[in-house]
Amino acid sequence: MLIDSHVHLQDIQSEKVRASLLSRARGLMVGKFVCNATRPEDWPLVRDIARGDDRVVPFYGVHPWFADKVATGWDAELERFLSVPGAGIGEIGLDRIKSEINFARQTEIFHRQIEIAGRLARPFAIHCARAGSDILGILKRDLAPRQRFMVHSYQGSPEMLRSFLDLGAFISFSWKILSRGTEETMDLVRQIPLDRLLLETDFPYTQPGKLSPEANVEDYFECLVRIYALAAQTKGIAEEKLQDAVWKNGTVFLSGTAAR
Ligand SMILES: [Zn+2]
Repeated sequence: MLIDSHVHLQDIQSEKVRASLLSRARGLMVGKFVCNATRPEDWPLVRDIARGDDRVVPFYGVHPWFADKVATGWDAELERFLSVPGAGIGEIGLDRIKSEINFARQTEIFHRQIEIAGRLARPFAIHCARAGSDILGILKRDLAPRQRFMVHSYQGSPEMLRSFLDLGAFISFSWKILSRGTEETMDLVRQIPLDRLLLETDFPYTQPGKLSPEANVEDYFECLVRIYALAAQTKGIAEEKLQDAVWKNGTVFLSGTAAR
């Protein structure tokens, strides 16, 4: 079985495309989609998609790009959405590239979501853009014991990778990072213990920095299949073995805390 560890199904503009993607995925043994919201406005759609398909795991959260747009009470609303068992928190994090979004505000929103994740024992997904040391500082101080979390579309240094792994992180590689095939990225993939690796399409954001409005089902499956093949090749193991490992990692990640 394949898991897509980070995807934004709600951002596929055409409902028909989304439906056909989910239906085609059955034949291709895609058993889980971790569907990340980015702001309160898309939480209802993420919830509806997840209600309609039990392979879709809803993640609700405020992405740093929207940190300055949320209204008072967003956090209570988030907890209401999280009342569904199995729902996680994402996509959350910090972004120093988007310097127009006040960094103190980003930090406040991120911090609040880490607190909720710890209290409700929910897994969370991190977006980290040139803010690795800020995020590590917060996690070292405030991460709940045995908390499960993942860093999505990892592209930091090997040293930072070590620090995230020490905190118990799962590390996810996206198509847009892996497909560049740089030696640095491949080395990172080799360094990750097999029991911490996740893989994702980040669809429909498969091109760096932009939404693909013409996103189609063929693109999606090409991404997903190629990313597994590339990771197996880089790790030097059989594809089936890699698929089993990533599937198991996804299950562990989604369990929220080690205690459960
Ligand atoms: Zn994303």
